[in-house]
Amino acid sequence: MNTGVDVALHDVRWGELIQSARIFATTTHGATYLAAKRADFTEFTRGTLLVTALFMITTIAWDFAIDPVNAPRVIWLRCLESALVLLWALASWRNVHAPMARVLAMLGPLGVEATFVHILGVLHQGASFGMGGFLYFFIFMPFLTLVQPLAFSVAVLVLIAVFPPVLGACGVSADLDWWVYAAYVGLVIGPVMLILLMFEYLYWTVFRYREQVEVQAVTDGLTRVANRRHFMAEATVRLSRQNERGGTASLLFIDIDRFKAINDAYGHALGDQVLTHVVVRLRQVLRDVDLIARYGGEEFVVLLSDTDTDRAVAVAERMRQAVRAAPCGMNACGQHITSTVSIGIATHRAEQPADLDRLIADADRAVYEAKRAGRDRVVAAVTQAQA
Ligand code: GH3
Ligand code: MG
Ligand code: MG
Repeated sequence: MNTGVDVALHDVRWGELIQSARIFATTTHGATYLAAKRADFTEFTRGTLLVTALFMITTIAWDFAIDPVNAPRVIWLRCLESALVLLWALASWRNVHAPMARVLAMLGPLGVEATFVHILGVLHQGASFGMGGFLYFFIFMPFLTLVQPLAFSVAVLVLIAVFPPVLGACGVSADLDWWVYAAYVGLVIGPVMLILLMFEYLYWTVFRYREQVEVQAVTDGLTRVANRRHFMAEATVRLSRQNERGGTASLLFIDIDRFKAINDAYGHALGDQVLTHVVVRLRQVLRDVDLIARYGGEEFVVLLSDTDTDRAVAVAERMRQAVRAAPCGMNACGQHITSTVSIGIATHRAEQPADLDRLIADADRAVYEAKRAGRDRVVAAVTQAQA
């Protein structure tokens, strides 16, 4: 029985399918996706092209097997085929997506097809023996075009399929029976396209999964800012750049005041809510380029590049006020909960290279001072260089 519910479920499934296809089509041609393909498939491309070039040479044996008299006349053509593939390999060596690599990914197979048709014309009964040779183009192509965007790969496969009959129409023909050709190609190209699509889908699935894992590896699960490990790595890079170009960077160490009391009074879940709300307030004050991370339980660190102590104090002060100004949770009785933060600041002097561990230690000490002075305040450390 076709109920309304059945129809609704049916509609939803189609909607999801179309949506997935749309995401698939967009990401598989996006810059990040192609960059990942390029990084993952460069070695693979080199390997498969070198094997293909070697295969081209070994087909000399095939020529001798079917016509030993005329085979010597086409050895140079087999070498030419191999050279064409080697050229393609060379153009793809560093970057499989370089314009010349793409041009050769398209012209290479067509060039080999043209020589192959010519060879079949030279060899006695080449046309009848050689028909199966066209299948190699389709066996190899998915592996070679796999590295390129899907649309490009499909275009190359279609071109490879139609090019020999076009040569035939232009008179470059080895008396091939184009009906037999059409039957061969017709049988092969469908499954090959499907395999290509399945390869693409497999790689896409791995790519998406990897993207998620990469984001998770550098992000704090609760507050969605960078985690400590990522902060240490990224801040080290940023500080070394800062050292190279001169100027000062500042580090803020932010600690939520009496957070344990919030947990004890209202429970851990509400504590989590407070943490996320505080992060939202802190981020409102920051620029996109500033690096914020969760350092530990209720402690956060911020690296401000090209920022001296005065400006860092101003930023920290705005953060402190932003946190205390708005409620950051609601208890079971519907009452708003407010919170405050204490912030320690460390800045290195321009003429001295910044050291991350030292900045963190100084900023941590400054937070301790802020706590001792009564909390909900900003304290700038007397840093390594000033001491
Ligand atoms: P102070 O003002 O001196 O900083 O006091 P405090 O209570 O904020 O500091 P303390 O170090 O005594 O307590 C920190 C608390 O943070 C203890 C711990 O249970 C809590 N905490 C750490 N991580 C999380 C978390 O992910 N979620 C929640 N809800 N609480 C956490
Ligand atoms: Mg703490
Ligand atoms: Mg605290």
